[in-house]
Amino acid sequence: MDSRAPEQQQQPLHIVFFPFLTRSHMIPMLETARIAAERGVKVTLVTTPANAHLLQPTIDRANSRPAFPHQPHMDLRLIPYPSVDFGLPDGCENLAAVPAPALAPNFYAALFSLRGALDTLLRDLRPVDALVSDAIHVWTTALAAEHGIPRLIFQVYGLFSLCVENETYLHRPYESISSRSEPFSIPGLPHPVQFTRATMSEAFNSLYMLGLLRESELNSYGVIVNSFYALEPDYAEHYYKVAPRKVFLVGPVGLAGTHPPAAEKKEEKATACRDATLRWLDAREEDSVVYVSFGTLCEFSEEQLRELALGLEASGHPFVWVPRAEGEKWMPEGYEERVAGRGLVVRGWAPQAEILAHRAVGGFVMHCGWNSVLEGVCAGVALATWPRRCEQFETEKLLVDVLKIATPVWEGFSSVVDEEKVVVPAEALAKAVKRLVGGGEEVAAMRRRVRELAAMGRQAVAEGGSSYDDMSCLIQGLMLCREERNKSREG
Ligand code: UDP
Repeated sequence: MDSRAPEQQQQPLHIVFFPFLTRSHMIPMLETARIAAERGVKVTLVTTPANAHLLQPTIDRANSRPAFPHQPHMDLRLIPYPSVDFGLPDGCENLAAVPAPALAPNFYAALFSLRGALDTLLRDLRPVDALVSDAIHVWTTALAAEHGIPRLIFQVYGLFSLCVENETYLHRPYESISSRSEPFSIPGLPHPVQFTRATMSEAFNSLYMLGLLRESELNSYGVIVNSFYALEPDYAEHYYKVAPRKVFLVGPVGLAGTHPPAAEKKEEKATACRDATLRWLDAREEDSVVYVSFGTLCEFSEEQLRELALGLEASGHPFVWVPRAEGEKWMPEGYEERVAGRGLVVRGWAPQAEILAHRAVGGFVMHCGWNSVLEGVCAGVALATWPRRCEQFETEKLLVDVLKIATPVWEGFSSVVDEEKVVVPAEALAKAVKRLVGGGEEVAAMRRRVRELAAMGRQAVAEGGSSYDDMSCLIQGLMLCREERNKSREG
């Protein structure tokens, strides 16, 4: 008799994962694929040649893990990306590599043209049981249907934003407001959170895209979200009601792994930078350092970068800052000498998840990118928010008004696509840093709350936790779909 669990006795499920071509979308989908592989699913990730190095190290590591309880089976397949045909530089295959904002539409048009290549690949990879693709690849819903397989949407941001965008699409609250700064709330949400047009102009401008996303969601098998129930319970319940399809909350996916996403880069330089940064932190007191980073896509003007530098200096507290900026022209003269010993400016790719998890780090000044939010929450650090783009403004509301684990750096922000460009003065940042790592009851309470959430996040991904169980439901659901497909073929 075969003593293996039922799912092991059958052919393993084969799921194809197709992430959007930018690092912050690839990281959580790769981690989700790895979790599925560790649960016995055969996984194929699909990307383009210039992005392969971002996925391959994790795949190799997963495949070389001991077979306990399953030998992970992850594979990477490449499809060509027609950059030059779409007016992009040769090899420009990642949103972060697009040389100018005006070329972004070319990048998206090239992305839509990948349908034919993915179609051929899906035929080649048969049998395939499901296609998981980034929400942005709306066209994969029809493609999966042609292949007779379920398509799952992968959402890289949380339930709060998904609910806000859903209700914005349905209620169009902008129709009743007259000025950019007039506060309004969005009907239908669990909390009366206030927004302004200045911060939400991207959501309003992209109603067409929201419509496409909705339609593709209606026709998909389900939605995978990198969040966990206990982080946003009211919004999970709300989303269960409004989402037309099954919802699987599988996050925080970065926590479920033994390898933090920041350990992707094996190059000597990156390893040396990682070691030096962590050693630097080792010499600092608990919760004394603020980490400042704004993800992979945010750009700041030279004027703003200079204010940032001066603000960190004026705060008087230890900091690790990842400016991710070209050149050094913006750096105030003699800056690094002046802050030496107290401030560390990291150039290139920082090991963010590890930095945040270091006991010396007590605060995180961040742009509210969802991966960073989850990493900050899981590390149990207090947050200061500096949103830059649409859904980041929404996430700020979740962190500040609903969860009360963050404090805004500045109240006068507007979305970067809006006409009004605000330069946040150095003093605002200095004040925010002092609030975060300077002690006091306000920050102690924030830290208590965020540490409770961190513990709940760990529980969620542990065996028997809500996210672990949602991954089980996903696997079982797709097994059932396969059985039904087989039955209908036989019948
Ligand atoms: N990240 C990192 N090192 C860096 C910059 C970014 O590890 O120097 C990682 C960060 O930990 C997070 C992701 O890149 O996992 C950024 O994603 P997020 O959603 O926060 O922001 P986005 O890049 O989409 O704006």
